[in-house]
Amino acid sequence: MNLGQPIIGMSSCLLGQAVRYDGSDKNQPDLLAALSEHFQFQAYCPEMAIGLGVPREPIHLVERDGQIRCVGTQTASLDVTDALQQLAQQHYAQHLQLSGYIFKRGSPSCGSRKVKLIKNQQLQRTAVGLYAEKLMANFPQLPVADEDQLQQAEQRDQFIAAVYAYHRSKLQS
Ligand code: SF4
Repeated sequence: MNLGQPIIGMSSCLLGQAVRYDGSDKNQPDLLAALSEHFQFQAYCPEMAIGLGVPREPIHLVERDGQIRCVGTQTASLDVTDALQQLAQQHYAQHLQLSGYIFKRGSPSCGSRKVKLIKNQQLQRTAVGLYAEKLMANFPQLPVADEDQLQQAEQRDQFIAAVYAYHRSKLQS
């Protein structure tokens, strides 16, 4: 258990790593500058970790037979649902060390909200990315946000306070 500066998990692409399907990143320099005096960052890219390379076929969430599956946008037989959920479980011990998490908005793997769910080739509703969903189920009290929810200084201050409160509660337990 880390007793020093809180560690927060973060989608690797938000930390500037070129791990998106097309080899790009989603670097957030302003957000990182605002948070770096408070936290250490631990990068996670679930899609790379399950063996999808760069570049790769994009994946998305679809509803099939009442189940949510994460599959290739062109190759329906490319189904990484189980791999993403199992990876989050394999990372359980690592996630125990975290006091917060910042997810990439809209990702079928990392998105903590508002991820498109497709049914019959049409937008059905929004859902949660599968790695993020498992992580949040394992740690329901963990403060989480996506980058869009931390654009304003007031939002960031609230997140920082929540992370410190969670961190303190871990130290006392
Ligand atoms: S959103 Fe998640 S899975 Fe996609 S590139 Fe970023 S870290 Fe990797």
